[in-house]
Amino acid sequence: MSEHHDACVLCQAETDTESETPTYKRSNYIDTAGQLCPECYQEIAKNKEWHNLM
Ligand SMILES: [Zn+2]
Repeated sequence: MSEHHDACVLCQAETDTESETPTYKRSNYIDTAGQLCPECYQEIAKNKEWHNLM
């Protein structure tokens, strides 16, 4: 019942990653940033400058 999904750290959109998911199992996750939605992850993968987007 307590399925909480993490929000994207950039746009706050809800992702499909559950909060209990270990980081190594996550997709669209960046160690120094946190959980991202697919759209923001795409942006960051392109730019490699995620901190400029915060
Ligand atoms: Zn996002």
